[in-house]
Amino acid sequence: MKTPLLQFTSNGIYCEKAGVYLDPWKPVDHAIISHGHADHSRYGHKKYITHHKNVPIILHRLGEINVTGKEWGETFIINNVTFSLHPAGHIIGSSQIRVEHKGEVWVFTGDYKTENDGISTPYEPIKCDTFITECTFGLPAFKWTPQAEVLENINNWWAENKAEGKTSILFGYSLGKAQRLLKYLNTDIGEIYTHGAIENMTEVLRPLVDFPKTTLITRETKKEQLLGNIVLAPPSAHGSTWIRKMVPYVTASASGWMTFRGARRRRAIDKGFVLSDHCDWPGLLQSIEATGAEKIICTHGYTDIFSKYLREQGYDARTEATQYGEEENETALASKSTAAI
Ligand SMILES: [Zn+2]
Ligand SMILES: [Zn+2]
Repeated sequence: MKTPLLQFTSNGIYCEKAGVYLDPWKPVDHAIISHGHADHSRYGHKKYITHHKNVPIILHRLGEINVTGKEWGETFIINNVTFSLHPAGHIIGSSQIRVEHKGEVWVFTGDYKTENDGISTPYEPIKCDTFITECTFGLPAFKWTPQAEVLENINNWWAENKAEGKTSILFGYSLGKAQRLLKYLNTDIGEIYTHGAIENMTEVLRPLVDFPKTTLITRETKKEQLLGNIVLAPPSAHGSTWIRKMVPYVTASASGWMTFRGARRRRAIDKGFVLSDHCDWPGLLQSIEATGAEKIICTHGYTDIFSKYLREQGYDARTEATQYGEEENETALASKSTAAI
């Protein structure tokens, strides 16, 4: 039996013909990286190739590494295998990785979403034979409300809290979600304050996107200054002494998980806004159809349920185990930054 173009190995997704890994979880010589989240761009590879907008992000996260930036659709050939990066719409600089050899095409999505968030390059479906998809939200219960509506609700929530003389604390991941929220916060309502993890990452991305002004919260920041204003913080800051000093405050989280009321209650958050940087159920199905792929490989999220559903629809679908899934890593990153304040 001939070796598949991409194989799932103990180091990561491997293209044997090219000697290259895609988002490997163990240190390797050659890695092509889909995006800057910690579970996809890890330490220790000898050479990194990624979209040029992801270059400043991973240099910030990983320090001095050997990295080459590519443009959307730019082809590069390694040992007769043709690679190119295409927008995944997940976060700034996030790519799908297209791999072609002798007319056979595979696409690896990394993480992706179909709605244009206005700061990431919008997702483009790519025709392929085999499509490797995440299924973080691969259940029919996940169906997103349009972003404009969610963001308007967030601004209204902030204005109401201000009218009650309270500080609004909004939780979102420091890379991606926080900047998406920041871009659309209405500065007519008040000022935007940030946690260190979010401030640092936003600073890295300011040359790429026009963001409103933010003020880093430091030891010198008085809680009176925060009243009526909004604080952007990573989810891990919830329940910390850093937050407790801000009373009176109201908390909210912006995440796809807010679909489940229980998620909000368990995390003791006052309000949940359903806003995700991943595909919802219809988004996953529409993208799969648009690729024209017959073979689908599900990598992380509700993989078993989702691949079973795809098989019922006539696809040749299966699940492969990977080490992707970003919440844990985000927590680790954010707590490091909390300690630094
Ligand atoms: Zn991600
Ligand atoms: Zn992921």
